[in-house]
Order: sequence, then structure tokens, then C-alpha cells
Amino acid sequence: MAVASLIVQKFGGTSVADADRIRAVADYVARTRRRGVRVVVVVSAMGKETDELLRLAAQVSDTRPGREMDMLITAGERKAMALLCMALHDLGVPADSFTGSQAGLITDNEHTKAKVVEIRADRIRSALEEGRVPVVGGAQGVSLQNNVTFLGRGGSDTTAVALATALSADACELYTDVSGVFTADPRVVPGARRLHRVSFEEMLEMCAAGCPKPEMRSVEFARNHGVKLHVRSSFTWEPGTWIEEEDPQVEQPIISAVVSDASEAKLTVTGVPDRPGVAARLFRGLADRLVNIDMIEQNISIHGTTDISFTVPHADLPAALDVCRTLQPEIGATGVLSDDEIATVSLIGAGMKTHPGVSATMFETLANEGINIEMISTSAIRITCVVRRTLVEQAVIVLHDAFKLEAE
Ligand code: ASP
Ligand code: MG
Repeated sequence: MAVASLIVQKFGGTSVADADRIRAVADYVARTRRRGVRVVVVVSAMGKETDELLRLAAQVSDTRPGREMDMLITAGERKAMALLCMALHDLGVPADSFTGSQAGLITDNEHTKAKVVEIRADRIRSALEEGRVPVVGGAQGVSLQNNVTFLGRGGSDTTAVALATALSADACELYTDVSGVFTADPRVVPGARRLHRVSFEEMLEMCAAGCPKPEMRSVEFARNHGVKLHVRSSFTWEPGTWIEEEDPQVEQPIISAVVSDASEAKLTVTGVPDRPGVAARLFRGLADRLVNIDMIEQNISIHGTTDISFTVPHADLPAALDVCRTLQPEIGATGVLSDDEIATVSLIGAGMKTHPGVSATMFETLANEGINIEMISTSAIRITCVVRRTLVEQAVIVLHDAFKLEAE
């Protein structure tokens, strides 16, 4: 196998959490280079630094202007990149740190959640040509208005993929504290198995269903630009999980993973008149308040009225409740119920497209455990059930077992 000639290596917060970790990462980058591979490094802020900066800002200010928040938060990555370069120099590796701005990550001006609009990676290219290792601060860029911007939580993954795209890298490695993507959260299911590979489509569904890493936006970016991702551990350095295009030669697993998510709450608007425009009015009202809707379910109408249930992130619940209660008289609904004790459990697998019986087995498995299904939603490669939050871990365990995900 030919050695890949250019790799982007991104190191998450735990990978560079202290001086020892930073030296270990430098040592690994030096080794990679000795194998003849050119490396571009992307770093997150050290450990929990981003959380600490956010906390500090909240202690100092009630207004927290976006421009200043971004200037503050991006300082975390700046610190990490300079320290890593120093450690590389100690090992005799010529390395230069670059802020997102210096690395040419041009973004829009949406502070705290800026989007990449262009990558002008000339400086990174020249550094590589001079045989140097560019070390880029993750999750940051510069807007067309010349302001420092932050790409949002987890945005270092996007920086890494964006640079891999611009430089046509052979792969983008995302180093973290877990050794890859698993068939279930190993903390919940000790026998969960690491996946060798997972398709972009499956990974995107897993991200949407609650899998915390990698950052969803970076997976989307990677899919759109055909960048192969490799999620792996900076503690064991063993090969992890490849995220790439589905291989048409290979039959897809029916189920790849079970994922749960306890970050949402459910709202139900009851006794909604069954006529055109009512759902439109309700969801326009929610959209105007920037409430992020996930699942929506509407019952068949009995006697001309129906119930509409939907899920929203916990953080959006107060706004969503406010909208529903305000609109209740106007749309003629009989009530508004909210429930923040729910969670979702999802099965994801590219092979379910062509296999009957997956939902039957899922529902039977939950039924045998006495777990009630409160809502159901599906895509071509995902089935999601809303259940009581107290039962969701049990649901993950029994489904993992029922679909024999432990076995290879
Ligand atoms: N340090 C930032 C965060 O914690 C960016 C990143 O790690 O991707 O969200
Ligand atoms: Mg991070």
C-alpha cells in the first residue's frame, strides 16, 4: 500500500489537555513525518478551556457581544497551537502555528457560529513546501469584514475537514479520547464493538440521533468534498473507524449502531382543529422564535380534531411553550402539554433500506421489556422511538443485543 503523502491530523481538547499530552502529540506528529508523510495539524483548546472561557464571560457580562465572545474563545486554540509548536521544535521538527485567519479560513460574520465560505490556504501550502508542519488553531476563521470568528462548539473538526479539502489531503484524522465510532456508547453497553468503517450517510444519521462525535457539520463537509475521515484515539494510537463513501461492492450491514439522545423535550398541542393552515400557523410561529424542531407527529383526526406532538432541544422548550400557549386560542386548540422526561433511541443501518422486519423486531424488543413507545419517526436508514428517559439505557442494551451488534 502506498503511504499517503498528506494527512490532516486534528487533536481534540483531551488530546492536548496538559503539558505531557502536548509532548505526546508532538512526538506522534514527529513519527508520522519520519514515515515520509506531510502533516497539517489542527488543535482544539486544551481540556475544558472553552467551557471555562464561556463561564468566565458569563461571570463578567450579561450582554456578551458576539465579536468579543469569538475573540475570547479562539484564544483557547491559540494557546494550544503555540505550545504544540514549541514541543515540535524541541524534537527538531520545524513547525509554525497559524490562527484560523492566518490559515486562510474565511467565514461569514455570524459570530459564535460562523460558516466557512472560502479557504485560502496559500500560507499553509508554502509552509508544507518548505518542509514545515503547519499547526492551525481549530474552530476559528476571519470574516469578510475582517473580524475574528468562532465556528461553534466542535468546530475544530470542520477546520480539519476544510483544510483537508483545500489541500486535497489523502485523509483527515480526528484524534480524540475514544478509539472510534462504536455500535453503542461503550459506557452503556460494555460489549459495544468499534466499527471498522461507517458510511457518511450512516454517520450523519448517527450524529443527528445523538452521537456526540464527530461534529455533524464536519461529516457533512467531508461527504460533500469526498474527504475520508478516520476517527481514532490519541491515547492508544490504534487504528479507529473510517468514515467514507458507501462501498457499492459490499453488502451494507442491516444495523450498524444504536444511538440514544436525552437532549430533547416533547410538546403536544391537543384538540387541534383538523383544517388546512393550522399546522402551518403553529410551526411558522415556532420558526419565528428560532425553535429547532426535530420529530413531528400528528394523529388521525377524530371528530374533526387532532393532536400534534413534536420534540425540541431542552434549551428551546421555554420559547416553544410560550409560542404554543400564545397561539392556542387563535388556532382553537384545547391544550398544550410539555414533557422533558423523554429520550430517543435510534437504530441506524444502511442495510435496513432493503430488509423487512427491522421495525417489527425493534418494537417487539422494546415491548418485551415493557418499554412503551411514545413517538416513532423514520428515515430510509434510521428508526427512532421516543421512550421514558429513565428507560432509555435499558432500551439501548436490549436493542444492541437483539440485533447481535456485539458479534462481528
Ligand atoms: N474548543 C472548541 C470546543 O470545545 C472547538 C473544538 O474543540 O472543536 O467546542
Ligand atoms: Mg472539542
